[in-house]
Amino acid sequence: MSTLQWTDARSVEEAVALLSASGTIAKAGGLDLLDLMKEGIVAPARIVNLQRIDALRGVQFDETSGLRLGALTTLAEIASDASIRRNYSALAASAAHAATPQVRNAATIGGNLLQRPRCWYFRNELFHAARQETGREQSQYGAIFDNAMSAMVHASTPATALLAYGASVHIAGKQGKTRTIALGDFLLPPDFDRDRDTTLGSDEVLTHVSVPPVAANTNAAYHKQTERESYDWPICDVAVVLTMKERKVEGAKIVAGAVAPVPRRMSASEKLLLGREIDEQLAADAARLAVGDATPTEKNSYKVPVLEVVIRRTIMAALR
Ligand SMILES: Cc1cc2nc3c(=O)[nH]c(=O)nc-3n(C[C@H](O)[C@H](O)[C@H](O)COP(=O)(O)OP(=O)(O)OC[C@H]3O[C@@H](n4cnc5c(N)ncnc54)[C@H](O)[C@@H]3O)c2cc1C
Repeated sequence: MSTLQWTDARSVEEAVALLSASGTIAKAGGLDLLDLMKEGIVAPARIVNLQRIDALRGVQFDETSGLRLGALTTLAEIASDASIRRNYSALAASAAHAATPQVRNAATIGGNLLQRPRCWYFRNELFHAARQETGREQSQYGAIFDNAMSAMVHASTPATALLAYGASVHIAGKQGKTRTIALGDFLLPPDFDRDRDTTLGSDEVLTHVSVPPVAANTNAAYHKQTERESYDWPICDVAVVLTMKERKVEGAKIVAGAVAPVPRRMSASEKLLLGREIDEQLAADAARLAVGDATPTEKNSYKVPVLEVVIRRTIMAALR
């Protein structure tokens, strides 16, 4: 058996160079990576530790350029940062409700967006060959939209809020090349031939996440619905970001997580709210519209009414 190699990268450039070698994988908080190794899903020859790279740290906010989250920013830091709580309350709430205090202290936003699906079949090395069909038929926690191929859902809950705020992901690659991609384009539906669910290359480093500034008249809310009160993965989570003009909706983003292979914009519901004053009836209509084209499986049809209620309540919560 060969020995696992470990290297502390000191710069983004060094990390990119090290990741170019096959069998090499990056580690941030290490939570998902360690799980994947224990589950026999990845077996790297070398781990490149990113934790010593200062350029990947830090939360910066200003009203003209918005928010910049270094890839190593922990979920606990996002949940407690005063500028995020004040300006991006749904993002702070999504981080505060993810996982457990211990996990939030170690989990980084970069690693969180790059974590692999929590599907039981994906996570079991014995099921890899058969997971396509079994995954769709068996999962009570799986997707209720876009699930013709697979019912796996993306595991990141902060991604739900980040998408509602229009976040982008910044990436460094070989020869000093950098690229920026909208989060909605970065996250890919699970594909069984692919060893990751994003557009990140194996020799690229996610350096930071940026979120555009929000208008002063922005209202937002986030809700994660779980089966039990203590830490749990979501049945669904919803982020609503509304830009208001007086009492009317000028802009609306409604995003639901854990119900589709990637977090899903509820575009028809967003349109319904535009130019209108929200009351209970309009929120209920928007929520009903959102679930209208759901295609649940026999085992997860309970998620449809749950999602409908959570959307309605989160729209109303955003008004407060
Ligand atoms: C009990 C429990 C409950 C949980 N509940 C939730 C929840 O409710 N919501 C939620 O969102 N998550 C939840 N999680 C998952 C947890 O949040 C993730 O495992 C964690 O965020 C992963 O971050 P990390 O920094 O540890 O990533 P790592 O494990 O270090 O990395 C994950 C992947 O990303 C790659 N990577 C990491 N950083 C970079 C980078 N900067 N550039 C390039 N590649 C990189 C690694 O190679 C690896 O493949 C839970 C986990 C546990 C154990």
